[in-house]
Amino acid sequence: MVRAPRSGYHGGMVRTRVPPGAIPQPVLELCRRFRAHGARAWVVGGCLRDLLLDREVSDWDLATSAEPDAVTRMFRRVIPTGTAHGTVTVLHRGEAFEVTTLRGEGAYADGRRPDSVHFVDDIEDDLARRDFTVNAMAYDPLEDRLVDPFGGLDDLRAGVLRAVGDPRRRFAEDGLRILRGARFVATLELELEPDTRAAFEGALDTFRKVSRERVREEWLKTMRARRPSRAFAVMRDTGILGVTFPALLEQVGCEQNRWHAYDVWEHTMRVLDESTGGPVERVAALLHDVAKPRTRAVSETTGDYTFYDHERVGAEMADRWLREYRFSKAEREVIVHLVRHHLVCYRPEWTDAAVRRFVRRVGEDHLDALLRLARADALGKGRDVSEELALLDALRDRVEGVLREGAALSTSDLAIDGRDVLERVGGRGGPVVGRVLRAVLERVVDDPSLNERARLLTLLDGLVPELLAEDAARRPGAPGETPAGGDEAKS
Ligand code: ATP
Ligand code: MG
Repeated sequence: MVRAPRSGYHGGMVRTRVPPGAIPQPVLELCRRFRAHGARAWVVGGCLRDLLLDREVSDWDLATSAEPDAVTRMFRRVIPTGTAHGTVTVLHRGEAFEVTTLRGEGAYADGRRPDSVHFVDDIEDDLARRDFTVNAMAYDPLEDRLVDPFGGLDDLRAGVLRAVGDPRRRFAEDGLRILRGARFVATLELELEPDTRAAFEGALDTFRKVSRERVREEWLKTMRARRPSRAFAVMRDTGILGVTFPALLEQVGCEQNRWHAYDVWEHTMRVLDESTGGPVERVAALLHDVAKPRTRAVSETTGDYTFYDHERVGAEMADRWLREYRFSKAEREVIVHLVRHHLVCYRPEWTDAAVRRFVRRVGEDHLDALLRLARADALGKGRDVSEELALLDALRDRVEGVLREGAALSTSDLAIDGRDVLERVGGRGGPVVGRVLRAVLERVVDDPSLNERARLLTLLDGLVPELLAEDAARRPGAPGETPAGGDEAKS
């Protein structure tokens, strides 16, 4: 295979042509079918770009001169995914291929979608409507011909992300493009071409019209980059972040204590890049210190900064933002939970009961993610954190020990269940049953030998009247429950 070094930031290799055998058989078969029907087809867009970057290609997209109706007649299994925009999905050999008829575009009134599309004959016209030069190449595998009217290959080799045509106009048509641009800076490790970059700011009003679902999608895709911080630096500098999540900007210049080498923003960026979890965990890394600027105070005793309760305030801020940006309930729960518990201040003196309380509070399902985040958090301090990392390793060992022992860590592990409680609360169901079980669990976590049915039933006899009395005292407008304090969590 022929490759040339790239002069851009990454220094990765870029192919100088599509190597023989790179296009999979099913794609070639589709192209031959088009040709047999007197039409032409090209591999286009992101898949061609990724192929030239020697990256794994996930979806093969085709552009064709045939109109959607004709495509539908050519293949047996076709799903009309976006016929109005000229796109259908062809199922072939168990795979789905997006096939789009060559098109030019009309005016954009809504800043997101063209008002009308019209089909064109010329592949170059179709490429002209695409966003960036590296995404505006096409390849005819039957003729082995690359169509690259805007110099996409040269830009890839130079490591440059450049808009097709006049960037101001292109970004005014569709506000999503600047966010895609920020994402590609990270995922493709390209640098923004200066004119393209200069046009970002003028496109912010159009960007405001982009739906929050799309923003969420782009953020999650960004998190797959080796260093997502590259995208967030662009978002910070160009105003995109100010539109999407202004609270994160408060981190810029927010200084921390001496065991941190960086301000909160720079620390966050490093934690984000160090995070070894999937995209959702990386969102937690991005948000873990979101409340630090708002909770910063100077301790009267030490003169150091404190960020008291920032993990709780941060969890609330994260929850609000994630709802607004339509993250799924499952995603939100993971992220908020990780932010809430990200301070892991393990000490070797912890008793086994303290380790069990830690596991219980974090939840078995979240332990790995939390320890990954804690590790990234330490690495992001920019100081010698070897001791902190050793402590995290030690905590992991102890957690594994606790899990091996099979001690009760959730109410379902108890030797009694809700029915036993119901019998003793006079048939009153509802939240009190859960509260009783959790109170029982607290004691069992402290002393696992209690987890025998007879002993727990005796415990219930004492606990239930106590909790019922508390419940009654609480009811007429009494203050709510205080959150369980972490014995190991201090800022
Ligand atoms: P990825 O699949 O990695 O997200 P991609 O570039 O393939 O990146 P897709 O959304 O799959 O992005 O779109 C396929 C192609 O369609 C792009 O490469 C580009 O040519 C074109 N395209 C997608 N979105 C836009 C847009 N908002 N404006 C202009 N062209 C676009
Ligand atoms: Mg794609």
